[in-house]
Amino acid sequence: MKESWKQLQDWIKEAKQMVFFGGAGVSTESGIPDFRGEAGIYQTISEFGVRPEEILSHSFFLRDPETFYAYYKKYMLFPDAKPNAAHLALARLEQEGKLTAVITQNIDGLHQKAGSQRVYELHGSVRKNHCLRCGKQYPLAYIQKAEGVPRCSCGGMVRPDIVLYEEGLDEKVLYGAVAQLQKADLLLVGGTSLNVYPAAGLLQYFGGKHLVLINRDETPMDGQADLVLHDKIGEVLGAVVGV
Ligand code: NAD
Ligand code: ZN
Repeated sequence: MKESWKQLQDWIKEAKQMVFFGGAGVSTESGIPDFRGEAGIYQTISEFGVRPEEILSHSFFLRDPETFYAYYKKYMLFPDAKPNAAHLALARLEQEGKLTAVITQNIDGLHQKAGSQRVYELHGSVRKNHCLRCGKQYPLAYIQKAEGVPRCSCGGMVRPDIVLYEEGLDEKVLYGAVAQLQKADLLLVGGTSLNVYPAAGLLQYFGGKHLVLINRDETPMDGQADLVLHDKIGEVLGAVVGV
């Protein structure tokens, strides 16, 4: 095992209140592309005429729900994706009483599928949906089955409980995540470009001992971390935790 991976393993052994903060890169090894992947910016512009950030905005959703759902169903829903070694390792660490929380920017629900219980989904989840008119809730299967824009039995439009661009984060989730970061002794950040705010700004609340970054590409926080691994997160956590 690489020296840097051993260092991480030692710090995890020492830790009592570890927190994980992650993003799209945590799920690429499960076959869900991040924004640089095949659903990336250029692909989306050539196919839909706009950038993903625009399609995934609140105003676009209201203006053109048909195009929103065409993109969303094609590029945001991966019902058959399975948790990878990173998700499984984090679930194991929680079970062992070492990890107190997973804070994620992902909306795919894979941490829960892996068995994690305490998950702060900063950007919501595709698993939950509700009617804009009456509030009735719908599972993911309902969205997938619907042709075009999913409608409620009351006739209202159904939307996913995900945070769109131009929308604020859920305060309960946000404050819960901040409280976890403030208590943490080891913060593991992985699979995120740390470019999406306010999520990335949450890292400032960590005041614990060690900050470790695991990300394929460089991030704006590399200089502030105690340890930086430019490796695949599933491979690292799979080996270090032993799942
Ligand atoms: P991002 O796409 O901006 O960055 C992903 C980062 O992960 C990149 O820096 C890349 O180098 C790294 N990466 C990719 N595969 C990796 C691997 N196997 N191991 C280690 N690092 C890897 O993602 P972001 O920072 O999460 O921000 C994008 C936004 O889009 C977020 O809001 C996110 O919720 C959303 N998004 C979610 C999903 C999902 O739910 N799975 C997928 C795409 C985008
Ligand atoms: Zn309704």
